[in-house]
Formats: sequence, C-alpha cells, structure tokens
Amino acid sequence: VIKKIEHIGIAVQHLEDAEKIFSALLEQLPYKREEVASENVLTSFFKVGETKMELLKSLSPDSAIAKFIEKRGQGIHHIALDVEGIEDEIKRLVEKGFELIHLSPKDGADNKRIAFLHPKSTCSVLIELCEEKK
Ligand code: ZN
Repeated sequence: VIKKIEHIGIAVQHLEDAEKIFSALLEQLPYKREEVASENVLTSFFKVGETKMELLKSLSPDSAIAKFIEKRGQGIHHIALDVEGIEDEIKRLVEKGFELIHLSPKDGADNKRIAFLHPKSTCSVLIELCEEKK
C-alpha cells in the first residue's frame, strides 16, 4: 500500500549553503543530519507538513549523488513514497514489470527501510519506496 509522498530528495553540492537556502525558504532549521554510510552521503532533513525534504550531499566522488551532480547538476534527485509492507510492494511492482534496483529493502536514513526503482521504468524519475522501521 502506497500511503503518501514521504520526502523529496534533493542533490546538493554544498550542504551548509543548501541548508541556509532551505532554512530561509521554509523558515525552519533542519531537524536532523544523518550520514548514510552505505550510500556515501550526508543527509539533512526538513519537515514540510506531512512531507519532508531531504538534502543529499556526496561524501565520496564515486557515490551515486556525486555522479548525479556531475551529469545533471544539483536538483531533485528522487521522490520517496511511504509504503506499508515494503516487501509486498516490491513484489507487486516487479510483477507489474517495473525494474527495481533493490529487490529486498536495505537500511536508509531516518530510520527507514528503503528500495529504489530504476528510473528507466518510471519516466526518468528515481522513485524510492520507504517504510518506517518498527
Ligand atoms: Zn530519500
């Protein structure tokens, strides 16, 4: 079950600069920063109503975020959908013909289990499925 847009991930070059911009825009400070070692990124989160914005800064030149910025520049990197029963959702999407980058969920930032869909099966939009760890 897809519940809502959980967050929008934005690839940024400089985290501090981006935090200042989004703090001014949203009139709030980020509520947390978190390193995701498996992805080699440092993340910073803002709450926007029911949804969040996740700033993503690469910590290594060969991370997915570094490659994204190199190719396309800063900007919207992914849209994350909050799901209930992530294994079942992965199965459902595979059956529908979507290409999944992760066939089983892995640990993501913000206490989530996550899986990405390949953007070539979703109109070039990288989609993340995420479910709060219980
Ligand atoms: Zn995300």
